[in-house]
Amino acid sequence: MKTFKDIHKSLMKKEFTCTQLVQEYLNKVKKSKLNDFLLITDKLALEQAKKVDDKIARKQKIGELEGIPIAIKDNMLVKDFICTAGSKILENYVSPYDAFVIKKLKDAGAIIIGKTNLDEFAMGSSTENSAYGVVKNPIDVSRVPGGSSGGSAAAVAADHCLAALGSDTGGSIRQPAAFCGVVGFKPSYGAVSRYGLIAMASSLDQIGCFANNVQDTRLVFNIIKGKDKMDSTTLDLKEIKTPKKIIIGVPKQYFADGINFNVKEEIEKTIKKFKDFGYEIKEIDLPYTEYALAVYYIIMPAEVSANLARYDGIKYGFSAKNKNLLENYLKTRAKGFGDETRRRIILGTYVLSAGYRDAYYAKAQKVRNLIKQDFEKAFKEVDIILTPTTPTPAFKIGEKQDPLSMYLADIYTAPASLAGLPAISLPIKVKNDLPIGLQLIGPQFKDDLVFNIAEIYEQL
Ligand code: GLN
Repeated sequence: MKTFKDIHKSLMKKEFTCTQLVQEYLNKVKKSKLNDFLLITDKLALEQAKKVDDKIARKQKIGELEGIPIAIKDNMLVKDFICTAGSKILENYVSPYDAFVIKKLKDAGAIIIGKTNLDEFAMGSSTENSAYGVVKNPIDVSRVPGGSSGGSAAAVAADHCLAALGSDTGGSIRQPAAFCGVVGFKPSYGAVSRYGLIAMASSLDQIGCFANNVQDTRLVFNIIKGKDKMDSTTLDLKEIKTPKKIIIGVPKQYFADGINFNVKEEIEKTIKKFKDFGYEIKEIDLPYTEYALAVYYIIMPAEVSANLARYDGIKYGFSAKNKNLLENYLKTRAKGFGDETRRRIILGTYVLSAGYRDAYYAKAQKVRNLIKQDFEKAFKEVDIILTPTTPTPAFKIGEKQDPLSMYLADIYTAPASLAGLPAISLPIKVKNDLPIGLQLIGPQFKDDLVFNIAEIYEQL
């Protein structure tokens, strides 16, 4: 697979023009049988490509991301293009402005080639909840690519683009990256602006990126990160020093019952490799981790129910156009939302309702703090935490019928989301078998450290 550097060199040497490159990728996307793209932004892509070609013709220097074909999860706004968030309710919704991250990418000269498929409002672990059909995993088309950013992960794995943006609320970048055998990074909460990201659960949502290798993933992150006055949770990350002697923590809770044998074996092999290369491995204890999924499935739907209240058939999006106001609300939301979205709105409304709020929502917030403190304690002893990304490799399309078994796909990714920590999924390529994801979790705002150690892994 080509890296950004390869493309950059070829463009500068005029082995091909940016327009030719982009045309080739657009053709591949148009022929895709994976259902990974919901929309192709060819006009925008070719306009941007021409700008890059003009610059090269004028012998101007081009940046590292300039001319690189990138795909965008369809829950981020790209001005003047439809943004569905994978939902019927936003079928005809045209983005009135560019999300912060889109503006950053455009300014850097990256080529936006299209919008990728996702679970409705980013809720799911397989893209089977998309109103526009399931995405197929390019490694085995009978399997899911993971979710909710399944379209982005599949597109990178299939070489339909060189990188893609995704969003991660409880695992939606890392889990599909693991299933498709690519790199997926979820930044620290606050590292990347959510302005122009369609909200799911605001205290958890983060935009991040996919690519084929750590360096390219890092280049995209370096462009999209940073303080934005439109998102008050954002800040500029400070430079950090990587310690000379790295201690890697391995939490025993991540290897308990439910982990697939192959996953366990491959992760243990990787731990051994780190050891053989002289890195210290330390077993750590994260006792509150076992509550992470339960806590996530209270806090997340609570925030979902509040965020999705805006889709009422009045201001924008699908409307049942009923003359009676209450009827209009009810019909719009019943017809516009899919089953999983409705389930979460109902669950979220319940945990926030009078009489139940303290027993569920408030309690979950307290346990969330304990989960955070677990990590803080652990990072006093170790520099980075190594875990599997998912308990199993990619499962079959249609295999998981009950919601709970689907929710279990996030068991290893939800804790870092609740604690706001940076985490990356790195592919372990298994011969003649499905890829497996290795997760590295770092201390808050030490996103660079996560990348530094991920680069070491790539060279092991
Ligand atoms: N799969 C998880 C869920 O369904 C995570 C979603 C996400 O990170 N956007 O909520």
